[in-house]
Amino acid sequence: MNYAELYQQSIQDPQTCWAEEARRIDWHEPFSQVLDYSKAPFTKWFVGGKTNLCHNAVDRWVATQGEQPALIAISTETNSEKVYSFSELQAEVTRCAAVMQTLGVGKGDRVLIYMPMIAEAAFAMLACARLGAIHSVVFGGFASHSLASRIDDAQPKLIVSSDAGSRGGKPIPYKPLLDEAITLATHKPATVLLVNRNLAPMHLVDGRDVDYVALRERHMQAQVPITWLESNEPSYILYTSGTTGKPKGVQRDVGGYAVALASSMQNIFCGKPGETYFATSDIGWVVGHSYIVYGPLIAGMATIMYEGLPTAPDAGIWWSIVEKYKVARMFSAPTAVRVLKKQPLEYIQRYDLSSLKALYLAGEPLDETTSAWIADALKVSIIDNYWQTETGWPILSIAKGIEDMPTRLGSPGVAMPGFNVKLFNEGTGEECGPNEKGVLMLEGPLPPGCMQTVYGDDARCVSTYWSKLNGAHVYSSFDWGIRDADGYYFILGRTDDVINVAGHRLGTREIEESISRHPNVSEVAVVGVEDKLKGQVAVAFVILKNPAAAASSDAQQALEKEIMGVVDRQLGAVARPARVHFIAQLPKTRSGKLLRRAIQAICEGRDPGDMSSIEDPGSLQLIRGVLTDRG
Ligand code: ATP
Ligand code: MG
Repeated sequence: MNYAELYQQSIQDPQTCWAEEARRIDWHEPFSQVLDYSKAPFTKWFVGGKTNLCHNAVDRWVATQGEQPALIAISTETNSEKVYSFSELQAEVTRCAAVMQTLGVGKGDRVLIYMPMIAEAAFAMLACARLGAIHSVVFGGFASHSLASRIDDAQPKLIVSSDAGSRGGKPIPYKPLLDEAITLATHKPATVLLVNRNLAPMHLVDGRDVDYVALRERHMQAQVPITWLESNEPSYILYTSGTTGKPKGVQRDVGGYAVALASSMQNIFCGKPGETYFATSDIGWVVGHSYIVYGPLIAGMATIMYEGLPTAPDAGIWWSIVEKYKVARMFSAPTAVRVLKKQPLEYIQRYDLSSLKALYLAGEPLDETTSAWIADALKVSIIDNYWQTETGWPILSIAKGIEDMPTRLGSPGVAMPGFNVKLFNEGTGEECGPNEKGVLMLEGPLPPGCMQTVYGDDARCVSTYWSKLNGAHVYSSFDWGIRDADGYYFILGRTDDVINVAGHRLGTREIEESISRHPNVSEVAVVGVEDKLKGQVAVAFVILKNPAAAASSDAQQALEKEIMGVVDRQLGAVARPARVHFIAQLPKTRSGKLLRRAIQAICEGRDPGDMSSIEDPGSLQLIRGVLTDRG
């Protein structure tokens, strides 16, 4: 089947399509029904089937390729590198599962994992899967307050953590943050299991905290059988990035997720058993769940877990890893590529990258300048893919494993199998035609692998995401998009990032894309700011490649004019920003997404609200600074 045929089948006859895809994984007991949509918009996939994520990721491969690499843990923070074969990974996961079992963890219990990017974090996730326990990984960079709210929401029996993470060679103690979070939280976990890396002093609380290394020693030969789960039992909870507000606890199933990953690893990522996959994300995010831990292993690939900066010891570090481990497929984010773009090209050219076949990027709009730069530097296909924590795998991309379709600059691609993507006009509720802007929605049933519900709150799930249009249940992505006549989509930004200038609705993304074409622009954020006359005006904040070009106020004014001129020529005067400010840093979430709502709030003199997901609070001060400096 080519792409069009497979896509068509996935929408018109999802049962047949997904029954076929389900053969990519091992089932302990077969399912009796492919799809149950009787409680719409909630979807059940592979009803009655029994399977297990740990079995499919680890045990399944031990028989045929037990001695081949499975997990490659590299840290440039502690200068360590360790390769675990599938057999060794199975042994470590089993030891970890045995430890958890002695701590009383069993099927359905929640285990919160607050860990740096070390192998033990993956062992812990897979050990939970083995036991049927529900993991909730919380990004290691979050501080006490964010952690406490997630502890209260997930109510874990056990927390797995570590003495410290490390960033730029500096230890970041986790344990004091965790202790404070447990003090703040109403729910108290019975046990805290700690992996001591000897990076920071750590005080163990009597009767609550236990040392992993000591307990592991007692279970070296442990055998822990797989707990087979019904396909629709929960596997994990993961909170969204919190770019737009309070994070939502996305709950996922077992069977549907395993099938979606196996399917996407083949159809989108073209993964082959024995090859190496390198995703530069973090286990705290959805990319880390789907494409660092579960996806590549389910596909029988070796997966790289990297702790460290993309620029240390130098900007060549990722490419040296690609060369050394013959990485075939790599997954990163535009924000990381923009960081590397500021460095000399020589850091890439120095390495033999002949093993690399494609680079996948997701998480933020990929601007054309960045995309063209990295494509030229690596000489491989750059494949943008658009999705959300909620969907678990790409909604839009290019399915090179099905058909070698061309990519289109600025577009994350076409709808992936099972995603019934529709654009709706926000005002009229009508479906959009080609080249008409609308809100990107997914008509139910959602394909396997997507969010089952918001953890513990079915009502919030329905009221947040679902509405009924023309009699059908539709899920809103809260992103704004457009589709061309050939079915390629373009994401124009989040629906709350759309601005209204004198009655014209403009996506901030379009203006940003236009500004980023100016040769001296490295990064840009555009927000809509309240204006008495026009309703809203666009205001741009620009990071320059060469900041010296805006050293004097005359130079700034000249550059501002130039940038306004670029927008005028490309989009027209309505889109021209009222002001262009030059800044050294932009506020981002810890997952690297621009916090436009915070910039907007400051521009309008409001409080930016819940900023627990922000990477560097100092960046908000910079915004306030340029606003008062220039008025
Ligand atoms: P929250 O939902 O809590 O506000 P978040 O939306 O940032 O947080 P994620 O699920 O991590 O949390 O991010 C998904 C969003 O990221 C998408 O809805 C979209 O806005 C953006 N995004 C992801 N990939 C792309 C892409 N390839 N192109 C454009 N935007 C993207
Ligand atoms: Mg979101």
